Amino acid sequence: KGANGKYTVTLIPGDGIGPEISESVKAIYSAANVPIEWEEVSVAPVLKGGKTVIPDAAIHSVKKNTVALKGPLATPIGKGHVSLNLTLRRTFNLFANVRPCVSIKGFKTAYDDVNTVLIRENTEGEYSGIEHEVVDGVVQSIKLITWDASERVARYAFHYAQAHGRKRVTAVHKANIMKMSDGMFLSACRQVAKEFPDISYDEDLLDRACLQIVQNPRPYSDRVMVMPNLYGDILSDMCAGLIGGLGLTPSGNIGRDASIFEAVHGSAPDIAGKGLANPTALLLSSLMMLRHMNLNDYANKIEHAALSTIAEGKSITGDLGGKASTKEYTDAIITKLGKA
Ligand code: NAD
Repeated sequence: KGANGKYTVTLIPGDGIGPEISESVKAIYSAANVPIEWEEVSVAPVLKGGKTVIPDAAIHSVKKNTVALKGPLATPIGKGHVSLNLTLRRTFNLFANVRPCVSIKGFKTAYDDVNTVLIRENTEGEYSGIEHEVVDGVVQSIKLITWDASERVARYAFHYAQAHGRKRVTAVHKANIMKMSDGMFLSACRQVAKEFPDISYDEDLLDRACLQIVQNPRPYSDRVMVMPNLYGDILSDMCAGLIGGLGLTPSGNIGRDASIFEAVHGSAPDIAGKGLANPTALLLSSLMMLRHMNLNDYANKIEHAALSTIAEGKSITGDLGGKASTKEYTDAIITKLGKA
């Protein structure tokens, strides 16, 4: 918190629709008088020692502020480019990816009352990048699970459940097949569970969890699911599908050295620069950020204004079936804030 009573937060507007949806969030925040000062940085890769890297200024800003809001980054196609998202993950030890999926009134999907929270281990598992060819035609890929990373993400899941009034943590796994790796993940979860006697703990097989959630997501409303990397990658998109897709889904990357909040969708090059993008996912990500910073009152106020604007359906963007531009939708939210 600075001398002016405001928190400085790094803003990475990103590519494609990123700058447009970031503008929208900034406008809504200033209308709601959120005590945040944005420090805008670019993560467009620069050449350093023959390698493309994230500019130092961006790294320093996130390190200093420890909280960042990030727009989508277009991944350059072709060899030799670093994945910026992966680099950010490694640089700041972003060990947990948090994905809540909550049904949005005014956008009809198969279920009206989805409210899932999924926490994905973000640093290892099948994403360790350890692959090699044993002999011609035989490739081995190593799934790495460590006690430390498992315990760390499990502890975060229990803390999250406690902080968000959820009664249960469910570890999702395939320990029937991956006896040692997922087995250890479960042991770590069980050990951490003992430290949280007020939160119940259980375990579910990944395949069973998928089947149950698509058949009836309701029982998942009062719990937090926690799981290894790859399972979380897939299951979180499945949950996003239940609420209408990636355009409405926020996420948080919680790290040891910083936390970065971002929409799940990409840079939407097909509509970039046209003023048509829906800023909701980035806005909801920023509200996760506010709650992470204990600025809950501001988050609740903005959330109410945005969700009731969508529920009314008068000023919604094209992806939700409306005709409003990004600016018209943003202005409608700001008008609601003024009336609150
Ligand atoms: P995308 O999410 O950008 O777009 C998929 C479709 O959804 C498009 O038709 C797009 O117009 C629409 N869409 C997405 N967000 C929207 C929004 N806020 N409002 C309205 N419509 C929206 O996925 P893609 O086309 O596969 O990827 C484009 C680029 O984004 C690629 O370079 C990809 O690597 C990158 N990407 C980045 C991230 C990230 O930074 N976290 C995530 C996913 C994809």
